[in-house]
Order: sequence, then structure tokens, then C-alpha cells
Amino acid sequence: MQIAVLSGKGGTGKTTVSTNLAKILNVRYIDCDVEEPNGFIFLKPENITKEKVSIPVPKIDKSKCIHCKKCIEICQFNALVHIDEVMLFEKLCHGCGACKTICPTVAITEYDRPIGEIYVGNSDEMECLSGILNVTEPMAGPIISQLKKRIDNKTTIIDCSPGSSCNVVKALLDVDYAILVTEPTEFGLHDLEIAVELIRKMNIPFGVIINRMSNNKNVVSTYCLDENINVLGTIPYDKQIAIMYSKGDLLINEEKYKQMFNNIIHNIKEVTQCNL
Ligand code: SF4
Ligand code: SF4
Repeated sequence: MQIAVLSGKGGTGKTTVSTNLAKILNVRYIDCDVEEPNGFIFLKPENITKEKVSIPVPKIDKSKCIHCKKCIEICQFNALVHIDEVMLFEKLCHGCGACKTICPTVAITEYDRPIGEIYVGNSDEMECLSGILNVTEPMAGPIISQLKKRIDNKTTIIDCSPGSSCNVVKALLDVDYAILVTEPTEFGLHDLEIAVELIRKMNIPFGVIINRMSNNKNVVSTYCLDENINVLGTIPYDKQIAIMYSKGDLLINEEKYKQMFNNIIHNIKEVTQCNL
């Protein structure tokens, strides 16, 4: 089973939820927030191995090019232009291979352009994966895809990027259940509504966890009630949580928070009818 943890905006406690759930369940954790991964700070995996991620980009043999411009016409990402000769803007290239396929003179070959890395390690028996996009690179998708290739039939918690960008959509592909983490404020509600719209369009069953809860009567609780959305649990607005977070401690190291996550897991099992 694949469970994605996402949030409409950053800083809502998405990584807190995903790392604590993964650890308590002792299941695979994947940090797909490849522009700013931080799950390893809490899970502290060991024996980390590194793997480069590259995309295949075109290399044009000028001697074979007949300037037909078919490669330029087919490129959906405006990565190729013709100014006396065919030129590539490599950071716009998505590595789709269409230009190579269409070239009538086989003037196009490919080379691998590195865009980031993935890391695989273990926290006790848990497999932990994370990826990082190189600075100045615009495309996180191939790194997320490479991370997700590791998923098999074992339960996996996927920590998505914040927001509802294409990186989130990529991380959500094939997931069985989604947990939306939010906070009980107008900002939290605004971004939650966008995340709910996305998740409903993708037809993924989901529930909500409300973080930094200080008052049961709040806009997010009311919205969830009105929209018939399962609230899987709440995390209190609590100084001790902030202190533990700032030290890179998992909340489940404290008995009362462990119980809180056990209750959330109980609720997830109940709505998904899965054992995890
Ligand atoms: S590989 Fe695809 S995206 Fe890259 S230049 Fe060719 S057609 Fe454009
Ligand atoms: S499709 Fe091939 S031959 Fe035509 S312009 Fe592009 S590289 Fe040159």
C-alpha cells in the first residue's frame, strides 16, 4: 500500500506526520520533496548509498543536419531553436526523445545530463529514500520517478512536496491513500481546499490531519465537517513539539505523542480497511 502525505503549503507538519508514521509502522519512507528534503534529519538513516539521476538530452551532429527543423517543430518544451544551426537550451529539455526519433538523417544522438541524486539508507529495519535536485535545475520530476521505482508491494509512506505542483502530482501517481496535513487557520484552509480539489480530481481516497490545534472550533474543522472529509487526527499546538522538532527528534519518542500517532494509524486502518 502506498500512502502519500501532502499539504497545501509548506511548514504545516507534513514531514513530522510522514516520518513519525513511517517509523511507528516500520515501513519504507520516501522523501519526494526533492527541492528541500528534510525527512532524513528525523529518521537518521545509516549505510547511505548514493545514485546519480540524469536525463537523456539531444546532441546534434552538425555534419548530418539538413536543417529541416522537424526536431524543433516536435519539441513541446521549446528546448530547440534554429539560428543558422540547431541549438539546445538544455535546461528546458525534458529528455522525451521525440527530436531524436523524428530526425530524418540520424543527426541526433543523446547524452546523459546529471540533474540530481537519490540516497538510500536504513533506519533500523526501515528503508529510507530521499532525493535532491541540483541547484539551478528546474525539473524535479525525473528524480521523483527514480525514487518511486523502488516501490514494491510493501507499505510505503511518500512525503510529497508542499503545494499542488506537478511534482506533487508525480508523487501522487498510483498511491492508494492520501493524508492531507493542514493547520486550523484561514491560510491553512485556503491551501487545503486546493489540495482537496487536486486529490478529488485524481480520485484518491483521503483524510486530513490538523496540526497545531488549539481550538476545536476552527475554520478547517468546520470545512471538513461540511465537506464530509475524514479527520484522521489532530496534533496539538504545543511548545514541546516545537522543541523536539528543532532538535530533529521524532515525536513518537515521547509516549503521549506515540499514543497520538497510534490513534491516527488506527483511524487510517479503519477508513482504508487495510492492515498497513
Ligand atoms: S528530448 Fe524532447 S524535450 Fe528534449 S529537446 Fe528533444 S523533443 Fe525537446
Ligand atoms: S530534425 Fe535532424 S536534420 Fe532536421 S533540423 Fe533537426 S537535427 Fe537537423
